[in-house]
Amino acid sequence: MKPLLRTLLFLLPWILMTVFTGPATLHAELKVASLSTITTDLARQIGGDRVKITEIIRPGMDPHDFQPTTRDIRNVADADLVLFTGKGMEGFLGKLTDTVEGKTRFIDVSKGIPSLRLEEDGCLIEDPHWWHSISNMERAGRTLEQEFKKADPANAGFYQEREELFQDSCDDLERWIRVKLSELPRSKRKLVTSHDALQYFARDYGFVILPVKGVSTGEEPSSKHVKELVGIIRREGVKAVFFESIENSRAVNQIALETGASTGGVLYSDGLGEKEATTYDSMIRHNVSTIVDALK
Ligand SMILES: [Zn+2]
Repeated sequence: MKPLLRTLLFLLPWILMTVFTGPATLHAELKVASLSTITTDLARQIGGDRVKITEIIRPGMDPHDFQPTTRDIRNVADADLVLFTGKGMEGFLGKLTDTVEGKTRFIDVSKGIPSLRLEEDGCLIEDPHWWHSISNMERAGRTLEQEFKKADPANAGFYQEREELFQDSCDDLERWIRVKLSELPRSKRKLVTSHDALQYFARDYGFVILPVKGVSTGEEPSSKHVKELVGIIRREGVKAVFFESIENSRAVNQIALETGASTGGVLYSDGLGEKEATTYDSMIRHNVSTIVDALK
């Protein structure tokens, strides 16, 4: 036998192993495309280094009026799983599912989470901002664990372990919120926000939301609505009003000027931030601290 052939034969098992399983140091990767910064962080928490995430919607982008580019559609088509937050948030979803065929599975991470319904322009619509309730996020964690296990059974134990850690971190977060909120009397739990995104939070912790705009971001409110808000804020002595990270409403400034309320800072309602609030946990802590410190 020629030396070269002998070397090749000697190396054959290693070559085959590398070709079929990849180099031993790399984990098998589940390709995940994420249509929300919330699902991105959830996929990181549950999937760890076994998932490769492509962020279609990145921190600072507004999910309410997003439109996918050709490149986004390519990335989605290339993924094994596509995660979205559901309840009507992704108006562009139909366009994606129509375009993308084949192996890609679309997963509504909010499935099984009961919806709050709100009135918008005379219709009842689902409130898509479910992640502001910690118990909803725990449920989404369990959903994602099941989906990851189904798509990648070889790593089922890994996902289960990560999911248990995630539930523990949510329990810690919930305890921390209750302690922080104890600084704020019930009578002061009135939240003037730029758009109507914190109803799940309000339900869990006894707040009343006074939104400047509706459930979606977009057009500035009518002067009649602003006038009504100004009246309520004066009457009830609300100390602060809040901006949101994604959009800066002129109306919030105007309301602060007219009522003498302070601008209490920036809340992250539609997703994570780039410099602060970069994880779900830190986003919730930032929001709760900002609210309590400004209103107490
Ligand atoms: Zn929103």
